[in-house]
Amino acid sequence: MKKILVVDDSAVQRKMIIQIIKKAGYENEILEAGDGQQAIETIGASFAEIAVVLCDWNMPNMSGLEVIQGLAAVDAVKDLPVVMVTTEGTEDKIREAREANPNLAGYVAKPFTPEQLKEAINPILVSAG
Ligand SMILES: [Mg+2]
Repeated sequence: MKKILVVDDSAVQRKMIIQIIKKAGYENEILEAGDGQQAIETIGASFAEIAVVLCDWNMPNMSGLEVIQGLAAVDAVKDLPVVMVTTEGTEDKIREAREANPNLAGYVAKPFTPEQLKEAINPILVSAG
């Protein structure tokens, strides 16, 4: 079973997302990254084992937007499913993210319900097997 990478500079936010995933019954191993740079390092080391990346936008060192731009530029990871999970929920921001990475797999605006997060990741995890 592939892993889920949760990227957010807020440890509280990561914990909340992880709790939702576990409560929903998913048994995938969960990796965490506290900023975009850590996310890129983790993805570089283990992209083949990752089913989905849940990625915050506003983070120090490297933003979520820079993460998805970076992934889109590299063949090996350009198809890695990324769901943005962010307070940046305006249409302009969503468009900006989709332009940065046309393969973006989903978009969840904070605050979100457990149901909204599940709806975004379930199809991805089902197809990842
Ligand atoms: Mg943040």
